[in-house]
Amino acid sequence: MTAVRSGGVVPDARHGHAGPRRTGARRGGAPRGRVQRGGAGRGGARAEVVLGLIYAGGLAVLALWWHGTSSVVGTAGWLTDAARITGLLAAYGCAVMLALMARVPALEGGVGTDRLARWHAAGGRYTVCLALAHVLLVIWGYALTSRTDVVHQTGTLVFHYPEMLKATLGTLLLFAVGIASMRAARRRLRYEVWHLIHLGTYLSIFLVFFHQVANGAQFVGQPLAEAFWYALFVGVSLVLAWYRFVLPVARNLRHRMRVADVRFETPGVVSVYVTGHRLDGLRAEPGQFFRWRFLMPGMWWAANPYSLSAPARDGMLRITVKAAGDHSRGLARLRPGTRVWAEGPYGALTEARRSQRRVLLLAGGVGITPLRTLFETMAGDITLIYLARTPKDLALRGELEAIAARADRRVLCFVDDPSEYSMPLTGEALRAVVPDVAERDVYLCGPPGMADAAHRALREAGVPARRVHHESFEF
Ligand SMILES: Cc1cc2nc3c(=O)[nH]c(=O)nc-3n(C[C@H](O)[C@H](O)[C@H](O)COP(=O)(O)OP(=O)(O)OC[C@H]3O[C@@H](n4cnc5c(N)ncnc54)[C@H](O)[C@@H]3O)c2cc1C
Repeated sequence: MTAVRSGGVVPDARHGHAGPRRTGARRGGAPRGRVQRGGAGRGGARAEVVLGLIYAGGLAVLALWWHGTSSVVGTAGWLTDAARITGLLAAYGCAVMLALMARVPALEGGVGTDRLARWHAAGGRYTVCLALAHVLLVIWGYALTSRTDVVHQTGTLVFHYPEMLKATLGTLLLFAVGIASMRAARRRLRYEVWHLIHLGTYLSIFLVFFHQVANGAQFVGQPLAEAFWYALFVGVSLVLAWYRFVLPVARNLRHRMRVADVRFETPGVVSVYVTGHRLDGLRAEPGQFFRWRFLMPGMWWAANPYSLSAPARDGMLRITVKAAGDHSRGLARLRPGTRVWAEGPYGALTEARRSQRRVLLLAGGVGITPLRTLFETMAGDITLIYLARTPKDLALRGELEAIAARADRRVLCFVDDPSEYSMPLTGEALRAVVPDVAERDVYLCGPPGMADAAHRALREAGVPARRVHHESFEF
C-alpha cells in the first residue's frame, strides 16, 4: 500500500470539496461555520444497562408464569407449562425485537445502530426458536392431556380455541420471516425484498397477540397480568409509531430537504449535497448517518443509510457514496432540486464515545465518510490512517490534507497498489506509524475484511477493546 503522508507523493489534488460551488458553501472542509453538537448521541443508554434491562424483563416474565402456576403435575403438565414458558418468552422476545428497531434516539446514540441490529438478529433467532418450541410443546402437552393424537389435537387447537386461527397465521408468518432471514436465504434475496418480508413481523405479532390474552393461563382471570401485557405491547407500539412514523414525517415536512448538488469525487464515488429549512434543528453529530430516500423515479421506494461526510453547517448536509448496487449507483443521476426524505440522525460513532485526548481514526475505503467529519471536528491530538486500493480511490483526500495542514493533525494514506506504499494491518505496523496507539481511542470504519484485520491488529498493538469504536456499514 502507498504510504502517502499529507502532501505526499501520489498526486491527487483534483478532488475534495466541502461544499457545492453553486450554493457558495465553503471549500476544503474548513472548520468555520457552526458544527452541531449535543444531538442524539449524547447521554445515550449504555449497552450493558440495556442488556441488563432486557434480561430483567425476561425474569419478570418468568415471575409471571411462576405467580400464575400453582403446581405442575405429570408429563402432560410439564410439557404444557414448558409451552407456557416458551410462549411467554417468545412473545416478550417479539416486544424486545420491536423495541430494538424502534429507532429510539437514546438506544441509537448509546448502543449504536449496528450493534442494535446484531442484537435484533440474534434475538430474532431465539424468539423464532422459542415460538417453534411453544407450538410443538403445546400440541404435545394438550394431546397427552386429552389422550388424542397430535394431528387431531392440532386441528382442535387451531379451529376450536379462541383467537387461534389468527395466531396460527401469525406464527406461520413469523416462521417465514425467520426462514427469509437465514443466511443462505438472505444472501439470495435483494435487500429490499428481504426487508419487505421482514416487515411482515408487525402483522405477525399483531395476529398472535390476542391468543395470548384469550388462552394464556397467566392472563385468563388475572386482570393485573393482562394489564401488564397490554401495557408492554401497546407501549412498544406507541414508541415504534412515534419514532418510525410520526417523528420522521414531522421532521421531513419541517425541513423540506432537496438535493443542492452532486459532485464526482473519485471513480464510482459521488458526493451529494442536501439543503433544507432549518437543518440545524436535526442536531446531526459528526460521525452519524441518515437513511436517505430520494424522491425520483426508480429511487423513491428505497431508503439507504449513508453517513454525513462533512459536518452539518450553513444549512447543508453532505454524503459521499461509493457505487455498490442500484441505490448507491443511482445517486450519480440525482439532479439539483430533487426532494429528499431523510430519517435520522442515527449512529453512535460520535465524540460522545471518546475517553482519551489522543485519537486514531482508522478508515478503509468509503468508511472514510464518518471519520472525515470527525477528523475535522474533534479537538486534541488526532491522527487519521486512511487505507484504499489505489491512490485514485482515496476519496476526499484533498480536503483531508487541507484539514491536516490547517488544524495541525496527521493524515496517513496507504494504498494496496503501488505496493511500495502499503501498510499491513498488524499491531507492529500500527505501532510503527502511531507509536502511542495503545493510549488512544480508535474510531474504525471500513469494509468487513478490513475491519476484522483492524480489530486483530489493534488488539496486538495493545488497544483495549473498550476504546475501539467501530461502525459497520453492513446490517
Ligand atoms: C450505518 C451505515 C452507514 C453507511 N454509510 C455509507 C457512506 O457514507 N457511504 C457509502 O458509500 N456507503 C455507506 N454505507 C453502505 C451503503 O448503505 C450501502 O453500500 C448501500 O446501501 C448499498 O445499497 P445498493 O442498493 O447500492 O446496493 P445493494 O447491492 O442493493 O446492497 C449491497 C448491500 O448493502 C446493504 N444494504 C442495501 N440496502 C440497505 C439498506 N437500506 N440498509 C442497510 N443496508 C443496506 C446490504 O447489506 C446489501 O447486501 C453505510 C451503511 C451503513 C449501515
